[in-house]
Amino acid sequence: MESIIDGVYQVGGAVNSFVIDGDQGVTLVDTGMPRRHGAIVSALESIGRTPGDIKAIVVTHAHFDHVGGAAALKHESGAQVFVSQGDAAAARGDEPHPLAPVFGWVPFMAPLFQRIVPSGQPVDVDHIVAEGARGLPEDLAVLDTPGHTPGHVSYLLDRGGGLLFVGDAAVATKQGRVKRGYMNRSSPTFDASLRRIAERDFAIACFGHSAPLSTDAAGAFRRFAAGLG
Ligand SMILES: [Zn+2]
Repeated sequence: MESIIDGVYQVGGAVNSFVIDGDQGVTLVDTGMPRRHGAIVSALESIGRTPGDIKAIVVTHAHFDHVGGAAALKHESGAQVFVSQGDAAAARGDEPHPLAPVFGWVPFMAPLFQRIVPSGQPVDVDHIVAEGARGLPEDLAVLDTPGHTPGHVSYLLDRGGGLLFVGDAAVATKQGRVKRGYMNRSSPTFDASLRRIAERDFAIACFGHSAPLSTDAAGAFRRFAAGLG
């Protein structure tokens, strides 16, 4: 587990999940792969917390590697689960998990991909989130960032100069640049989301599939967005 700032930790693996340790308990941002939530439990124990301390699970999007551990962790903790409208049906198991944009270049293959891309364990969704929503744990602000999935959202935490949980809307390179990244491809919707992220102010960015950016993260997004045309 890696400390991002005081009270915020990244739990790594095939995908990153995040622990926000607050006065009211623990908030998780994404939950990793199905049946791999033990890494999150171990991380909590290393900071003197237990699964019972998890009060909220906020989800960036309903892909199996982000929402996969949510059902098990909710079962252990009774935590409230927050998902966007666009991805809620997939998180609940009422629809297949949305295909990542990279599969969209061969639409006729979509039914096949849909069968081979796993879905996570269904989870009960307690709260639908959208940009402008209030009352989220840790006063998280929601940014609608559709593109990677129809209901993809990012979360902005007002600590450490602003910390954006990007989800899979982008990744960071080792050189500290932002790029489109994992399973993504350009679309008007997706590029509009990236431009809107670049309009916000935040010092730090945390990603589903890369190391965080710990300084001038908004600047890195602005440089990337400027190249989108
Ligand atoms: Zn994803």
